[in-house]
Amino acid sequence: MGRLDSKNAIVTGAGGGVGLETVILMLREGASVLMTDISTPALEKAIAKAREVVPDHKGRVETKVVDVSKEADVEAAVTHLDSWGGVDIMFNNAGIMHPKDGDAEECPDNIWDLTMNINVKGVWYGSKHAVRSLRRHGKKKGSIINTASMVALVGAATPQLAYTASKGAVLALTRELAIVHAREGYRFNSLCPAPLNTPMLQDFLGDDKEKRFRREVHFPTGRFGEAIEQAQAVIFLASDESSFVNATDFVVDGGLTKAYVTPE
Ligand code: NAD
Repeated sequence: MGRLDSKNAIVTGAGGGVGLETVILMLREGASVLMTDISTPALEKAIAKAREVVPDHKGRVETKVVDVSKEADVEAAVTHLDSWGGVDIMFNNAGIMHPKDGDAEECPDNIWDLTMNINVKGVWYGSKHAVRSLRRHGKKKGSIINTASMVALVGAATPQLAYTASKGAVLALTRELAIVHAREGYRFNSLCPAPLNTPMLQDFLGDDKEKRFRREVHFPTGRFGEAIEQAQAVIFLASDESSFVNATDFVVDGGLTKAYVTPE
């Protein structure tokens, strides 16, 4: 028995680090998955990888190009699952951290809007259409997981104001949705990852040792997190094992947000 047998899931940003690792685990746990992303090449590569590493998967796995900042795209992805029996799990994972983001003076207006449109509106649209699907199919339970970040919990002197504000909004909207829909059985939790070994951050840091050390030193474990470590948490939040876990800021950070001085 898989932990997600007979569940239908949508993953946004499925072509990226956390998204793909989560899809792979979802398939291993028996779910059918619609992989969505704004990037067609990323999706093609990701589904090939997922099929390669989970060759004996029995359910469905499909891809759909979706820009989460466009409501019509998100709605189309969710209604695509009507013929599967509707959505059970929605992982609103797609997000950007734009290289032009910065402190209050540096962050350009258009980068602020772009970040909010993807990171906040994208999560809102995903949540809204997941609830509509759950209701349409008369479901008595559902799990929506929205990706925030630990920068929504602690301040950083390496500023990315639009990104930080967007992730704070994810925490707040997820908490409220969790309370509003609790009696319908629809759970909403936020995932708060620490800095990870995925293209999003690693491409930005590149070979810059100083930039890298500035972050690494704050990890009690002495290392960045791995996408798979986030994916494992998502599987818990998606499964019925977390049936009484609702409205949490689920922090997966190797202890970073609880640390003052880290080991030498
Ligand atoms: P990633 O860059 O590897 O993957 C993100 C994916 O989202 C990419 O495949 C990209 O094509 C897709 N995407 C971008 N804009 C989109 C849009 N408008 N619509 C649909 N898809 C879009 O990033 P990741 O590290 O896997 O990050 C996943 C989530 O985790 C993000 O929300 C990110 O903010 C969050 N997070 C990441 C870190 C980190 O250090 N990497 C830390 C904390 C939180």
